[in-house]
Amino acid sequence: MVTARAFVTGIGGQDGSYLAERLLADGTEVHALVLRDESAATYTPPEVVTHVGDLGDVEATRRLVLDLAPDEVYNLAAISSVAQSWDEPDLTAHVNGLAAVALMESARQVGDHVRFVQASSAEIFGEPDASPQSERTPVRPLNPYGAAKAFAHLSVAVQRSRGLHASSLVLYNHESPRRPERFVTRKITSGVAAIARGRADILTLGNLDARRDWGWAPDYVDAMLRAARTDEADDFVVATGVGHTVRDFVEAAFRHAGISDWEPLVATDPAFVRPADATDLTGDPTHARDRLGWEPTVDFDGIVAAMVAADLALLDESA
Ligand code: GDP
Repeated sequence: MVTARAFVTGIGGQDGSYLAERLLADGTEVHALVLRDESAATYTPPEVVTHVGDLGDVEATRRLVLDLAPDEVYNLAAISSVAQSWDEPDLTAHVNGLAAVALMESARQVGDHVRFVQASSAEIFGEPDASPQSERTPVRPLNPYGAAKAFAHLSVAVQRSRGLHASSLVLYNHESPRRPERFVTRKITSGVAAIARGRADILTLGNLDARRDWGWAPDYVDAMLRAARTDEADDFVVATGVGHTVRDFVEAAFRHAGISDWEPLVATDPAFVRPADATDLTGDPTHARDRLGWEPTVDFDGIVAAMVAADLALLDESA
């Protein structure tokens, strides 16, 4: 039997770790591009073959891809913070935009059979006029991160029209116990766990009214695999279709930690309120369901419960 080979960028992140596990479980050989300091990322399975390099080094990455000749290419690497993108708009444009296009072109040069999956983002819609958003929602980013992701997203369609089996997955927020604490969900669950165990007194947050469509990260990785392996490539919104506010998340997290009277335990600080922040990002996953047979398997309450349980367990292990 010939083993399929996948090439993954951004393996050190939450999604990269879940994707690598899924691909390996499927018998796929996984090669990954890693920045030097990322090569020992906590959740990278040891079976992954790592290659040190920077996606932004377009020529070196092209040589590597042509040399490895993978069957599937997953582009998960990106400057992942909107805040950093304001500080470094040109680096963001280079890595999230141009380098993604270069990787598509490298994949195309490997051969007709190659499947390319781009991890796009709801940020390409900026502050949309209507909710939920779909594949037909106008692309109108409002920050350098979204603009660069939008360029890559539009380029996937261009490369597809040129014959590359390329799909762009417009991923809405997706969470897990592997989410870093700079994201609000993990900040909340680790903070709530600390309060529940008497290690902290208060949780300080920004805008509690922001509404997001939070999904379960392993489900989103499942959508990536399905997109790579379906007959016809396309663009797919990957979301649950259900939005919740940050306040809802806080309430659910305290509830799962056994605390009902949570309001005195939460403070807000303008330092955490963003100057420009989409108020309602909720996606319509109908197309992914119809064409990929994809469905979320863990709902909002299940996600909060799993994350709170994991953070409580971490504290209890370290105690
Ligand atoms: P994002 O949607 O990719 O920016 O993911 P985040 O998890 O960082 O933020 C989700 C929402 O939570 C945004 O609307 C933030 O403004 C809001 N939010 C409220 N308080 C906080 C906080 O203390 N930290 C973060 N990261 N986000 C917060």
